[in-house]
Amino acid sequence: MIVVLKQNPNQTQLDYLINWLEGKNISIHTSVGDSHMILGLVGDTSKLDADLISALDIVESVKRVQEPYKNANRKFHPEETIIKVGDTQIGGGTLTLMAGPCSVETEEQMIAVAKAVKASGATMLRGGAFKPRTSPYAFQGLGAEGLRLLKLAKQETGLPIVTEIMEISQLPLFDDVDVIQVGTRNMQNFNLLKELGAQKKPVMIKRGMSATYEEWLMSAEYVMSQGNENVILCERGIRTYESYTRNTLDLSAIPVLKHLSHFPVIVDPSHATGKSSLVPPMAMAAVGGGADGLIIEVHNDPAKAWCDGPQSLNPVQFDKLSRKLIAMKDFMNSLED
Ligand code: PEP
Ligand code: MN
Repeated sequence: MIVVLKQNPNQTQLDYLINWLEGKNISIHTSVGDSHMILGLVGDTSKLDADLISALDIVESVKRVQEPYKNANRKFHPEETIIKVGDTQIGGGTLTLMAGPCSVETEEQMIAVAKAVKASGATMLRGGAFKPRTSPYAFQGLGAEGLRLLKLAKQETGLPIVTEIMEISQLPLFDDVDVIQVGTRNMQNFNLLKELGAQKKPVMIKRGMSATYEEWLMSAEYVMSQGNENVILCERGIRTYESYTRNTLDLSAIPVLKHLSHFPVIVDPSHATGKSSLVPPMAMAAVGGGADGLIIEVHNDPAKAWCDGPQSLNPVQFDKLSRKLIAMKDFMNSLED
């Protein structure tokens, strides 16, 4: 971190600032220019509040040269995180295919979709039991009953489950869930993130629809700060001025996050595009861009889905796509040296 001081800073205040920083194990390299003095702060500055320092009378500006996230940072954790889920793993060159309906609707629907996606190569089953809906009048999810149906489908197929949590009080219901999903709307629900950090199940954090990479990584940092290292990031599209697609899929997130952090990166082409016809090409592009997996909405009868039918693939479409994705991942792996 670099602190540029105002001209002729008050010496007492400067001594106070330097003592305070040294008390935090930060060493200071001072350089005195013609008009300004600059303090170079060396050490772990991740816990320093840059805004607080820039508000001091003697400070002109503050610039971070080190990222504010430490546990999530690739620099401090060079090996990539591989997450074990049931018999499979997420990351480490594998292709995780999470597939299933937007919402859990009925037992017949869940069992039918689970069996179909498993036969097509899915490695995990998705399905929302708690649904964050824009309208309070829209279907809100089956809640605990939805989790029971997911568990039935897991018993029937052996597929591990990924499903969304909306609030801390729901956590005791998640015993049979394998990966806990934090949705875009809760990416900065810091109390929820801390609670999920204090337990051991993997947490998949979807990108807030207007979140920067740094904000997203700070959410991962919240989980890790409480001791849970099993974090997965999911790019699901961001809000832009384009309205043809539901969101804008930011594929640069894949290489950037892999560079900045050590987490597996999953891509959700369903919520990113909102259109089933755009899901296959974007899913292929994501694997080509280095994604560790995809989360794809699949419904046995999309036209009758209670939620997000227009972006859902039917089982035949998913089967076709899944084969291409597996071939694409094999091809990508074969290119690596
Ligand atoms: C979902 O995956 O069911 C979902 C609601 O996604 P998002 O939080 O990305 O909108
Ligand atoms: Mn959905």
